[in-house]
Amino acid sequence: MVMTDSEIIYLDNNATTPLDPAVIEEMLPFLRECYGNPSSGYAFAAKAREAVDLARERLAALLGCEPPEIVFTSCGTESNNAVINSVLQFEPHGKFATGRIRHGGHIVTSAVEHSAVLRPCQDLLKKGCDVTFLGVDQDGRVDLGELEAAIRPETALVSMMWANNETGVLFPVEKIAELCRDKGVLFHTDAVQAVGKIPIGVRDTAINFLSLSAHKFHGPKGVGALYVRRGTRFHPLIAGGGQEDGRRGGTENVASIVGLGKAAERALEYLTEGKTHIRSMRDRFEKAILERVSGASVNGARAARVPNTSSFSFEGIESPAALLLLDRHRICCSAGSACRTGSQEASHVLRAMDSIGDRARRSLRFSFSRFNTDAQIDRAIEMVPKVIAKLREMTTPTQASAVSAAVTAQ
Ligand code: PLP
Repeated sequence: MVMTDSEIIYLDNNATTPLDPAVIEEMLPFLRECYGNPSSGYAFAAKAREAVDLARERLAALLGCEPPEIVFTSCGTESNNAVINSVLQFEPHGKFATGRIRHGGHIVTSAVEHSAVLRPCQDLLKKGCDVTFLGVDQDGRVDLGELEAAIRPETALVSMMWANNETGVLFPVEKIAELCRDKGVLFHTDAVQAVGKIPIGVRDTAINFLSLSAHKFHGPKGVGALYVRRGTRFHPLIAGGGQEDGRRGGTENVASIVGLGKAAERALEYLTEGKTHIRSMRDRFEKAILERVSGASVNGARAARVPNTSSFSFEGIESPAALLLLDRHRICCSAGSACRTGSQEASHVLRAMDSIGDRARRSLRFSFSRFNTDAQIDRAIEMVPKVIAKLREMTTPTQASAVSAAVTAQ
């Protein structure tokens, strides 16, 4: 397929993904005619209730769990906050405390988590809870020995992401979950960047909680879910009506939940058919960039990674300037997480991987999806080296900084 110059090349699928047309189709009746409240008793509302049930079944199939173990939420951020707040509501042996955050509680997490885990943990620190932020090696890997040593008798939760949003590096969460189970500690994984990208079977693991978000796998924005393992104590973040079996108050966002369910079904089809299109696009892109651009390296190259993410460091450039030029060529990618775009602060993930170097300031993340085409990858392979070469020609720091300033001001 030949591309037109004006076509967007969307290589920022870790920020968000396009809606699958099949998802839109399935959502539409619930935005139009099937507007009943799933909690209402009459037959008209049963359609909405059944649709929510179906979505729960489809998501359970993708995660390899039972439908009642799923709680629908408003996003991945809410799911993470719900878990972190929940665990400290209990005394160490599962007895419900007084509704106040338990002082002296302890959480273990990593320094490279998304802000949706880091921020609630930092807030808990201010409220008298202790948090250990484990560092990572140069490839973004966590040391299991260090993790084990960080767990104390008062540790209420270990929270480690499944896949890193900036580098795609995978943490061995199944092993970590077993370690936590052996130590009698609850384990949560922020799997927002893993769900739909790699096969997941929570039933065969010791994971207690798992967070996900629909818009990362071609579902709608503003809807997510939390897996809560059967028998794991959980205190709702949002108290209200008895929705979600009393685990999350608020009338269900039916159309979006339907969209999440359909997106889960489509993701499972892709994974079970053993399709490798995304991985081969990513690998082809990575290989070509490494061959064509001197001083380029892949962040987390020696670690296991999700198949859709390429995080590059380029010597002699500044990420904001590169983003500006790539944008002019209609190539969408990012310097780190989308949440930090426009901020002067370099990625905390890349800084954790390279505390003395400047990798964080000269990195670009490209992330792919099944809606990318080979023609788009060809165009990116043609344009990225040109943009890097152009930036390197701007030898005076003033020129490069002027471009950086222009982009951060946007
Ligand atoms: N966790 C990770 C790893 C993410 O990448 C993101 C979004 O970028 C989130 C959590 C937040 O998800 P949501 O946008 O649904 O709140």
